[in-house]
Amino acid sequence: MFYIIDVKGLESIYGSLKETFHVISPTLKDGILLYSEDVDFNSLPFGYTQMEGPSFYQLLQSSGRYFTYLRPSNTLKYFLRSPNMKLLTVKRSNGELSFEYHINHRKLAFFDVRRCDLKALQTLDNVYLNDRFPDPYYRSLRENMFLVGVDCQTASDVCFCHCMGVYLEDSYGADIFITELDGRFLVTALSKKGVELVEKLHIKKASVEDIQKAKEKREGLLSTFKKYLDTKDLKENLYRNIEHPYWEEIGKRCLSCTNCTQVCPTCFCFDIKEVNSIELDLSERVVSWDSCFNQTFATVHKFNIRDTITSRYRQWLMHKMAYWQDQFGEFGCVGCGRCITWCPAKIDIQVETAKLREL
Ligand code: SF4
Ligand code: SF4
Repeated sequence: MFYIIDVKGLESIYGSLKETFHVISPTLKDGILLYSEDVDFNSLPFGYTQMEGPSFYQLLQSSGRYFTYLRPSNTLKYFLRSPNMKLLTVKRSNGELSFEYHINHRKLAFFDVRRCDLKALQTLDNVYLNDRFPDPYYRSLRENMFLVGVDCQTASDVCFCHCMGVYLEDSYGADIFITELDGRFLVTALSKKGVELVEKLHIKKASVEDIQKAKEKREGLLSTFKKYLDTKDLKENLYRNIEHPYWEEIGKRCLSCTNCTQVCPTCFCFDIKEVNSIELDLSERVVSWDSCFNQTFATVHKFNIRDTITSRYRQWLMHKMAYWQDQFGEFGCVGCGRCITWCPAKIDIQVETAKLREL
């Protein structure tokens, strides 16, 4: 179902979501774009654009159009599995134990999710909602979620999603999808919830010409990518070079700071801690983000199986580009480029992967 709206129509969609959901959308904070909760339509960074490169980020004001910016620097995982999340409280009273599971039933709506981040959500779903060990905390939020996808108009210098299985028409999980035309927006309703929301607003159906224009816009995006990664036989080539001395070269530059794993929309490693009260009548189980770059991440029974930075960097890249394929049949990287922008050592996963592939 295709509809056509102007900027007032966009505002109506946003307002309608606010009636039912906690809306999360990109906004300008401390000089960067971040997803934030409980902001409003006027705080969308319309007309801004980002320049991003290795260790480089700059926001510029452009003119005329609306969705000129790119994906924010934080990701959906920040809201689905926050950096520190309480899972369980156990209380002891009069010799009896009581258990409280902190499953979050909040209804979240993400307004403006780009195709790379929808693909990343699919990747996280494959981890958290698998048939064997579905995660009830994650599932509760996912089941109550509404997603508004938006097409990018241009790629930045760090984007390479077009090589990582993110296709022009991919809209995994989106309830509605918005493509900016000239001053108007094509809205594609993709789910029952999406159709209901749009129909409620009584907006105009799109013409065949509008649908065609949106398709051409999407195709035009492809010519704006500057990065490319050849993924044919990538896994096999990386395995072939797993002992190559070049890993040491990257290891010398990497600071093991964990920035890359924190901004990555698909990194999901975590640690679980039990926090007890001194009276031993209360215990809280907390899950926190962890990172394979942390020095003790791979310590098992006091023995660290990855005690060098080189081994930790290799684990990270190999997991994204090779092991993930063995586990899930897809890449663990969606080519969003965030880790390239936020690496203080200017280590570029696309450049390093391309190099390791060819050695
Ligand atoms: S590894 Fe880097 S480019 Fe790939 S999805 Fe993660 S942050 Fe994005
Ligand atoms: S690759 Fe860059 S961002 Fe990642 S841990 Fe090393 S220095 Fe930090």
